[in-house]
Amino acid sequence: MQITLTNTLTRRKEPFTPADPSRVTLYVCGPTVYSYAHIGNARPPVVFDVLFRLLRLTYGERAVIYARNYTDIDDRIIAAAMAGNVPIEEITRKFERIYEEDTRALGVLSPTLTPRATAHVDDMIALIEQLLAKGAAYRAETGVYFSVGADGDYGKLSGRSQDELKAGARVEGEDDKRHPSDFALWKTAKPGEPSWEASFGAGRPGWHIECSAMIESELGSPIDIHGGGIDLIFPHHENEIAQSETAHGHALARVWMHNGFLTMDKEKMSKSVGNIITPRELLEQGWQGETIRWALLSAHYRAPLDWSDDLLKQAQASLDRLYGAVLRLKDVTAAEAAAPSAFVEALADDLNTPAAIAELSALATAANIAKKPADQAKAKGELLAAAHLMGVLREDPEHWFRASFGEQAVEIDRLVAERVAARVAKNYPESDRLRDELAARGVEVMDGPSGSTWRRKG
Ligand code: AMP
Ligand code: ZN
Repeated sequence: MQITLTNTLTRRKEPFTPADPSRVTLYVCGPTVYSYAHIGNARPPVVFDVLFRLLRLTYGERAVIYARNYTDIDDRIIAAAMAGNVPIEEITRKFERIYEEDTRALGVLSPTLTPRATAHVDDMIALIEQLLAKGAAYRAETGVYFSVGADGDYGKLSGRSQDELKAGARVEGEDDKRHPSDFALWKTAKPGEPSWEASFGAGRPGWHIECSAMIESELGSPIDIHGGGIDLIFPHHENEIAQSETAHGHALARVWMHNGFLTMDKEKMSKSVGNIITPRELLEQGWQGETIRWALLSAHYRAPLDWSDDLLKQAQASLDRLYGAVLRLKDVTAAEAAAPSAFVEALADDLNTPAAIAELSALATAANIAKKPADQAKAKGELLAAAHLMGVLREDPEHWFRASFGEQAVEIDRLVAERVAARVAKNYPESDRLRDELAARGVEVMDGPSGSTWRRKG
């Protein structure tokens, strides 16, 4: 299956061919671990998780190496540690663990590698030494800076003009830069802040150099695909390119992919605006991880996605329909099946998850109308294989419906059991009354050879 991907660098959708199909490399900028991630921050790990799954299907599980870092040294982390009067590691380890729990709840597979920035400071220092030796960086009182004039291509990813680059490049405390667009590779040590010794003076790394060093050390460049949110194109990814390509003399990444913003009432979700909701809060409200994941994948990854309760309700209704199809075929053993090609083609077309969702719905229809046992087994197998590639339908269907009814599920179980007893006793008026009572609670009872099951009414 030929995968095509939109490459931010060329601004085109292109066929994807890895440099070495036996070692496909993917890097996605990970979180700065100082606080809870919001649901907008969860969009990149979920989107690139689908890409990871698609690449593994295409090139083999062992052939794909996916690295997603933890930025565990940064101004915001230092500020949080000082505010709470606790060691930095206490903050970073705690929020790393929380990030792992949250992404796991959203069905995100663990990346192959999850490097921490603080474990690569030596690599960052070596890279900065290389840039200094090449005359592409210079030392100043406040730190070591990359000289954008040293990179003739600077601005090629974001397509910004020199004037646009200059605007907004002012950073507090960096008054001794030679050019407004120059950016910090290293920040001179300040009292009370963590610092590392280096030949060019004690200090700590800037954010951009972290990713450049981790990519080189963990994967080696050029990597096949580099991803992140659209807000990282400039300055973060532009600066990663400038540093790495100037130091190594070859491309950092062949394909650059960026997900669009998650918004609320059309405004970007962000901590600074204050319009945030976290995966944790949504789980506490009773939404299931797969529902949140489905909602995140309901728009194409490059398009904006406006978050709302309605979006979650629609996601739950779609998943209920798929789980309903699996539940109806509870007594049928799924055939060993591959995900059907129409479904895989949708994902291979620049991760077109809305089209893939439509294909899943068609597979559920096929499962619902299949009559012969062999057709039912095949339809169930295909539906499950496709769903697993999207990272959904991982739950037992009965558990799925129970969980989405929360505490009410126990009461529903009791009514269903009473109805079974009434039927056994041939007390049909009572059995009908119980069916109506369940229907009033939005529950449909399904009687099958191995007993009665229930689900949310569609
Ligand atoms: P940050 O913690 O701000 O560095 O963001 C972590 C990741 O989340 C980056 O890849 C950002 O591009 C991405 N991101 C932040 N806010 C949003 C949003 N509202 N919608 C989609 N992605 C976002
Ligand atoms: Zn990065």
